[in-house]
Amino acid sequence: MRIILLGAPGAGKGTQAVKISTKYNIPHISTGDILRANIKQGTEIGKKAKSYIDQGALVPDEVVIEIVKNRLNEEDCKNGYLLDGFPRTVAQAQALDEFAKIDIALNIDIDLDILTKRLSGRRVCSVCGAPYHISSYNDTKCAKCGGEVIQRQDDQPQTVKARLKTYTLQTKPLIDYYADMQLLVNIDGNRAIDDVFEDIVKILN
Ligand code: ADP
Ligand code: ADP
Ligand code: ZN
Repeated sequence: MRIILLGAPGAGKGTQAVKISTKYNIPHISTGDILRANIKQGTEIGKKAKSYIDQGALVPDEVVIEIVKNRLNEEDCKNGYLLDGFPRTVAQAQALDEFAKIDIALNIDIDLDILTKRLSGRRVCSVCGAPYHISSYNDTKCAKCGGEVIQRQDDQPQTVKARLKTYTLQTKPLIDYYADMQLLVNIDGNRAIDDVFEDIVKILN
């Protein structure tokens, strides 16, 4: 099972990815998580990526393509994987086609007003990346690992605006890209987490 998750920032990709990865026992590969880990560790990749992320822009294609290409070569990807947040440009999708064969692209569809609420209330574990929302989780410690729960710097309102614009201009065209390849399935993301997941399971089964 080689799955791509598409959707605007805040659509619920990371939330669903954790559930899919657990149920089907495939690695969850989030380029956002990998880039943030690199920033934290002060690597060369992290240094390159930080200014783009802080501005709500995309990190250059060659940087993320290299990351994903290396990651998919690891042993745990042999039986499938779940890509969350990659590809994000047509160039990335074309590169992916050169080194991987994707089975399905799940596009989580969501209305703009809901999106804004999700992003402004999102909190994440600074250690393991687990996503939370202030409406349902107020603890300052992560339920999974005990790490500190924080607001991502790029979830501040002005950066969110830039990210949504970036999404519309650069990532949204991927919906047509995967529709043309007959790999696209749309999911209504404007519903409770478990209802969205139930739909995804039906499709994957
Ligand atoms: P979200 O959860 O809002 O979809 P992510 O955690 O996936 O955000 O990504 C955070 C930021 O990391 C993006 O705004 C972008 O700057 C960078 N990033 C993540 N994945 C990619 C990618 N495939 N290509 C370019 N930049 C990326
Ligand atoms: P993405 O990875 O697409 O950027 P996340 O999975 O991080 O999105 O979700 C964004 C925010 O919305 C998080 O605070 C998360 O807890 C919350 N969330 C995700 N899915 C739902 C849902 N179906 N209903 C309500 N809140 C959700
Ligand atoms: Zn945690």
